[in-house]
Amino acid sequence: MERLIFLGPPGAGKGTQAVKVAEHFGIAHISTGDMLRAEMRGGTALGMAAKSYIDKGELVPDNVLIAMVRERVQAADCANGFLLDGFPRTTAQADALASFSEIDRVINIEVPFELLLARICGRRMCAACGKAYHTSTHESELCSCGETLYQRDDDRAETVSRRLRAYETNTAPLIDYYSACGLLETVRGDQGIAKVAEDIFAALNG
Ligand code: ADP
Ligand code: AMP
Repeated sequence: MERLIFLGPPGAGKGTQAVKVAEHFGIAHISTGDMLRAEMRGGTALGMAAKSYIDKGELVPDNVLIAMVRERVQAADCANGFLLDGFPRTTAQADALASFSEIDRVINIEVPFELLLARICGRRMCAACGKAYHTSTHESELCSCGETLYQRDDDRAETVSRRLRAYETNTAPLIDYYSACGLLETVRGDQGIAKVAEDIFAALNG
C-alpha cells in the first residue's frame, strides 16, 4: 500500500512526476487541479463555483476540496493506494486528510522561485489526458494522444504571481507540518525530468 503526497509550488513538476510514480506502483493519480478543470469543462455547479477562485489565482475553499478528496480516495482504483498531487494545500486540508486516511510518504519537490514563472508560462496541457508539455522542449501543438494542447487561463503571467503567493502563504507551511510527522523527503526539482524521477524513486525506495 502506497499513500503518497507530492508537495511543491505550482510548476515544480508534480504532475509530470506523478504520472510516472502512480503508474510504477499501480496506484491512482489524484490531481485536484485536473478534477476541478474537468468539473469546469463539464459546466457543473461545483466547476462554476471553483472557476471564480481559479481564474483569480486563489485557492478554492477547503470544504469543497476536502469533500471531493474524501470521496475520491474511497474509489475502487485507490485500493492499492493513491498519489495526491495538489492536495493538501492548507493546514486545514492536511488535518482533514489525516482524519480520513493514513499517509505513508510525502515527497516535497523543491524548485527555486525564479524558475517557476518560466515553467508555468511555457506549460501547455492536454485536456484529454492531462499531460503537461513545455514550449521549450515540445514544438508541436499536439499531445502524444493526438489532442490539441492548450494554455491554461491561470497559467498566464497576471495570475501566476497570485498563485505563487497563495503557495507561500498557505501551502509552504505543510513542509514543516509533514517534516514534524517524519514523513517528508525533499527532492531537487531543478534537474532534468529523468533525474528528478530517479531521485523520487530513490527517496521512495529508501
Ligand atoms: P506542477 O504539476 O507541479 O504544477 P508540471 O508537472 O505541470 O508542474 O510542470 C510544469 C511545467 O514544467 C510543464 O511545462 C512541464 O513540462 C515542465 N517541467 C516539469 N518538470 C520539469 C523539469 N524537471 N525540468 C524542466 N521542465 C519541467
Ligand atoms: P493545479 O492544477 O494544482 O495548479 O491547481 C489549479 C488551481 O485549482 C489552483 O490554483 C487552485 O485555485 C485550485 N486548486 C487545486 N487544488 C486545490 C486545493 N487542494 N485547494 C484549493 N484549491 C485548489
